[in-house]
Amino acid sequence: MSDKYDVVVIGAGPAGYVAAIKAAQEGFKTACVEQWADDKGNALLGGTCCNIGCIPSKALLDSSYKFAEARDHFAEHGITVNEPVADVPAMQKRKEKVVTQLTGGISGLFKHNGVTSVVGKGKVLAGAKVEVTDAEGNVSILEAGNIIVAAGSVPVAIPPAPIDDEYILDSTGALALSEVPQRLGVIGAGVIGLELGSVWRRLGSEVVMLEALEDFLPMMDQQIAKESAKIFKKQGLDIRLGARVTHAEVKNGQVEVTYSNADGEHTETFDRLIVAVGRKPRSEELFASDSGITLDERGFIYVNDFCETEAPHVYAIGDVVRGPMLAHKGSEEGVMVVERIAGKPAQMNYDVIPSVIYTHPEVAAVGKTEQELKADGVNYKAGVFPFAASGRALAAGEPEGMVKLLAESDSDTILGCHVVGASAADLVQQVVIAMEFGSSAEDLALIVFGHPTLSEAVHEAALAVDGKAIHIANRKKRG
Ligand code: FAD
Ligand code: NAD
Repeated sequence: MSDKYDVVVIGAGPAGYVAAIKAAQEGFKTACVEQWADDKGNALLGGTCCNIGCIPSKALLDSSYKFAEARDHFAEHGITVNEPVADVPAMQKRKEKVVTQLTGGISGLFKHNGVTSVVGKGKVLAGAKVEVTDAEGNVSILEAGNIIVAAGSVPVAIPPAPIDDEYILDSTGALALSEVPQRLGVIGAGVIGLELGSVWRRLGSEVVMLEALEDFLPMMDQQIAKESAKIFKKQGLDIRLGARVTHAEVKNGQVEVTYSNADGEHTETFDRLIVAVGRKPRSEELFASDSGITLDERGFIYVNDFCETEAPHVYAIGDVVRGPMLAHKGSEEGVMVVERIAGKPAQMNYDVIPSVIYTHPEVAAVGKTEQELKADGVNYKAGVFPFAASGRALAAGEPEGMVKLLAESDSDTILGCHVVGASAADLVQQVVIAMEFGSSAEDLALIVFGHPTLSEAVHEAALAVDGKAIHIANRKKRG
């Protein structure tokens, strides 16, 4: 049996479900094929992001942050509480509730917009057809005017530390722990390592992070990365750089990890080990051999700037294609693709995609880093404003970190913004908006910012670009 649709989306993560809703809104007859099902056999929507990624991690980050605030910082504000107790199963239950509410919400949006939800594993066949295989092995064919592949990504595995889902965990296992490990090892001091390492550190774990590279957060602006490293060290995250893990073995209910660094070989014993060394595209078994789709050497589906694959009417978006593995990047690609299918001249601005590490304080960025501008030979000016000089940051007890704004020397056009500090994500988003409108640093400097807000640090950083900050001593201009 074969059903006909204008648009068939494969995958219901933030890239796929947004594309499906948008397609239905544009008046296309739309189906979304998702392989994950709930215990009633209905499609489990929301993908990695809602089920095992962004949302559950932020639920645990927020719970553990509140706990750590009560334990470590309430007294500064004159609040006395009895020694707080972390009830991890209760935190996990709350996390599940948040996830269920969101994924149920997406089901509701599918119904409201008329998206047909199909449960099963999708495969792209030649001639714009999608083969769907359900859990019982039954196969059906969907005929599609257009196909949007949004199959997402999976964690990278490393041979020295194979995941056993009990002692050696990937991010999914690390989000589901029912008690606080006394000693927690984390391989990889990237985004997941820092976020999940922070959750369990706040709840009382002794956390050791083993990072292969010599530089901490090499993709971030290095001034911000160095400041972040200091803050994380103070929080008790033991981040060991240049550490190459050679072996991990479960012995007597613990994990023994061997790693080498410049000082030689070392062994550490942990109660649990999290492996967070990156993610890779989920592109295997997605295409029939004659489908005309090409993968690159790392398994990403080859697409152009408009997310068009090499097969006519087949598009790919989200983590399964090049670019940062971020939920909002995939969602916007989905919107762009559907608008183009509808004949509109949509495009993505890949230069202005914000990224955030949701530690406390947050680390957030958009645009070019100082080291990238240097490497590209761009003449630039930098304005930095520390939160220690912000009245609101002091009032909130959040004096750590800074806002850094980079602008092109002659035109003054904003090229990047990098923040470590409280609410960094929301502060950077203000600059994202400014950059989308092609603002100069002076444009930002001329805007009225409410007082007292953390946003004033963005204003002051913009003023500092031209040595005109009010609430810090400006660097003297040379010449
Ligand atoms: P996914 O979300 O991976 O969804 C793909 C979907 O396709 C899945 O539901 C899968 O079952 C389905 N699928 C795959 N193959 C098939 C098939 N053949 N047939 C049918 N269905 C199929 N990003 C952020 O922006 N902010 C964050 O705070 C953040 N936190 C994260 C925390 C963690 C712990 C992790 C692991 C990731 C986090 N990410 C975050 C990254 C974010 O989750 C991904 O970038 C995002 O989910 C990618 O969306 P996607 O739709 O491309 O793929
Ligand atoms: P990542 O690339 O951020 O970090 C992986 C780290 O592991 C890197 O620092 C890398 O040098 C290190 N590494 C790699 N191999 C190693 C080895 N053998 N031994 C020791 N260290 C090693 O990847 P991640 O933290 O796994 O996250 C995966 C993706 O998910 C990221 O691309 C990220 O964009 C996305 N994500 C985003 C958020 C967010 O937006 N807040 C949160 C979580 C995940």
